[in-house]
Amino acid sequence: MTTTTSYVIALGSNRRGRHGNPEREIRAALALLKPVAVSPILATRPLGPSRRRFANAAAIIETGDDPPTLLVRLKAIERAFGRRRGQSWAARVIDLDIILWSGGAWSGPQLTVPHPHFRTRDFVLTPLLAITPGWRDPISGLSVRHLAARLRRPQ
Ligand code: ADP
Ligand code: MG
Repeated sequence: MTTTTSYVIALGSNRRGRHGNPEREIRAALALLKPVAVSPILATRPLGPSRRRFANAAAIIETGDDPPTLLVRLKAIERAFGRRRGQSWAARVIDLDIILWSGGAWSGPQLTVPHPHFRTRDFVLTPLLAITPGWRDPISGLSVRHLAARLRRPQ
């Protein structure tokens, strides 16, 4: 018997690679991930010291991989796309993060799911809203829709 697990993956790029501009890099990574659902690709303002624009998207994938196995696969794609470790955090051809998975929470030396910062990142929550508005964060108990509304509410 194989059990499939659903994952929500966030994709980001702010540097040209061999596929072209950040949007093309996102499309190339999506082609490898074979998702069952994909958000629109957003052009996002830079966060932090970089002036580069980001392209961001989110996808749902289904796989038999457990979270660490999937992370190894995502890191291999990042390397293949020319992402260099130890570089300025803000310049990357592709960043692939595991945001949520159907198994609830996972905590290991290399990996924390849900992704620790996704609740406060508009460039993650906006794509998520397009594909998984009702998915509940197992930590806060709030849906993606609720987290996005909370983030956008003026403080
Ligand atoms: P960031 O995505 O935060 O900008 P990196 O992509 O360089 O930074 O990731 C740094 C490390 O974060 C990865 O090597 C990975 O082991 C770890 N990590 C922890 N939780 C996650 C997660 N949910 N998804 C992806 N990577 C994660
Ligand atoms: Mg990452």
